[in-house]
Amino acid sequence: MLCNISFHLSSICFNAAYRKPSAKAPVIHPGDEAPFLGWGGEGSARRSALRCLTEAGKPGMLGINVLAQEKRQMGTKKTRASKQPQQRTPTFLLELPLQVEAGQAKRLRAHLEAGRQLYNAILSEGQTRLRRMRADPAWQQARGIPRSQKQERQAAFSHLRKQYGFTEYALHTFAKEACCSWIADHIDAVLAQRLASRAYQALNRVCLGQARRVRFKSRRRGLASIENKRNDTGLRFVLEPPEAGNGGWLEWKGDQLPALIDWNDPVVKHGLAQRIKYARLIRRPASSPRAQGTDRQGDRYSVQLILEGVPYQKPKHTVGSDTIGLDLGPASIAIVPREAETRLEPLCAELRPAEQAIRRLQRQMDRQRRAANPENYDEQGRAKKRGKEGLHWKTSARYEQTRRRKASKERKLAAHRKSLHGRMVHEIVRVGNTVILEKISYKAWQEQYGRSVGLRAPGMLIEQLRRTVARTGGTLIEVPTRSTKLSQFCHGCGRTSKKPLWQRWHHCVCGIGPVQRDLYSAFLAAFLSTANDVPSCARYAVPWEGAEARLRVAQERLQERAKEGQHVSRSFGIPRAGARLPKNRGEATQEPLFLLRGGRLEAWKYRPEPLLL
Ligand SMILES: [Zn+2]
Repeated sequence: MLCNISFHLSSICFNAAYRKPSAKAPVIHPGDEAPFLGWGGEGSARRSALRCLTEAGKPGMLGINVLAQEKRQMGTKKTRASKQPQQRTPTFLLELPLQVEAGQAKRLRAHLEAGRQLYNAILSEGQTRLRRMRADPAWQQARGIPRSQKQERQAAFSHLRKQYGFTEYALHTFAKEACCSWIADHIDAVLAQRLASRAYQALNRVCLGQARRVRFKSRRRGLASIENKRNDTGLRFVLEPPEAGNGGWLEWKGDQLPALIDWNDPVVKHGLAQRIKYARLIRRPASSPRAQGTDRQGDRYSVQLILEGVPYQKPKHTVGSDTIGLDLGPASIAIVPREAETRLEPLCAELRPAEQAIRRLQRQMDRQRRAANPENYDEQGRAKKRGKEGLHWKTSARYEQTRRRKASKERKLAAHRKSLHGRMVHEIVRVGNTVILEKISYKAWQEQYGRSVGLRAPGMLIEQLRRTVARTGGTLIEVPTRSTKLSQFCHGCGRTSKKPLWQRWHHCVCGIGPVQRDLYSAFLAAFLSTANDVPSCARYAVPWEGAEARLRVAQERLQERAKEGQHVSRSFGIPRAGARLPKNRGEATQEPLFLLRGGRLEAWKYRPEPLLL
């Protein structure tokens, strides 16, 4: 009874916010989207505007923490007819674990299996439509239209999308038809729409050339999450008022799955005080079926609430006002504020033991796979090429166990990394929330330093920093590498010269240095004038006076650590314990040989030892 009241209340609040007359039109930045993304659909400008805003990456700029892409299209007919521009509100997430009984788990599995089959069906249909559309000669013609004729190009693509039914709304219609028979017993129309949107987003990435192919969800892995669009019907989260016991549960198809709510946790308390936009059910495999809180298949369930507003800011996380230059390497970070203390640190050094444990499990899995499938390897122990029928791989029970343990270790590592990133971000923002760094292609890094970047995820760190900085009213400025060339510039003589990779110290003939190169380029970034990207000598003369000593402090701290025998990444250019310091740590930066031969090859040839861990 009481829960019903609270539920009505929340839906009233929801509607009130929804019809807000003062809604502002969303801002569209033209460069945010591939120019030929024509929005077929019903062709209204409002929808295309919304579409632009839901593109991934955009929320980060707005300072909104959104995994969820929320569109608020689900209103009543009245609002839809009035065609008011809908306001996007900031969003954040709260995750709560669920207590699921054996019977409930069984039903959830059945629902998720139905969802999986429906998702695959929509994906398959969409893929067919996409292939047909691309096979049409008109597609090539549309591609031939020069990008300068933006409108024409867009119209041609959107016409094609409409013609072949490759739009989100066409797939919604398909989902409505496909969601019939036994699937309809498990999945309602709104959930089917969300699955269709998910399938469309995956396919659209292929269409725009951002992905090679789409993945169908296998029966074994299943669907890991399912979400609603609203919190008043179907899958929804219900919160009791305080006088009724303060409980909360996820409701789906008559099942009530109680959530574990820690009301003493300020983060949870703050989150639950906000309006719930919608709920998402998450299923995660645990390390074994005997792990705590799992069902008999070894899965844990939790609910993610997509909430309106901004996340809780812990009082210990204060915001500073300094301007900070950052220099990020694949395994290190140099932080140089204009006034405060400088730092040069390895990135996520705490992840090393977990990574080693994962590698051990990987090797164990390899041994187990070999033992179970000796016929799949040749005399030299290499895996055979898959022939016409492909290789058949047998998996032993122990192999499955190891695989599971490795997977759960990897999940833990990812969570640990996220918390380390969070800590680093708060430490930076405590000093200041104007951050300047070079714009780096993390994709290129991934190719060159795959393992290190995969472990530390520097791109994710920057994204989190960007969101936090935006939330606290600051700015994160990414300056183009090509024009600034911070890692090559010397403010003493104004020359830019390429340093080979192994050269970790900046020591110029004009008398600047020796200074660790990452720290130096972070210093250059900190005092960069943002109006004019190109660094100039005059600008740095005064700041250098004060900064030189501060940079030395960071270097000395690293040297101390190396002397104590702690692990210090070689990329810092600091010799390990017992090693003798070279007299001249950096060669003169102008090295004609390197300039002549293009640098890279020579750099690798002369590199004395591996750069990274
Ligand atoms: Zn110089």
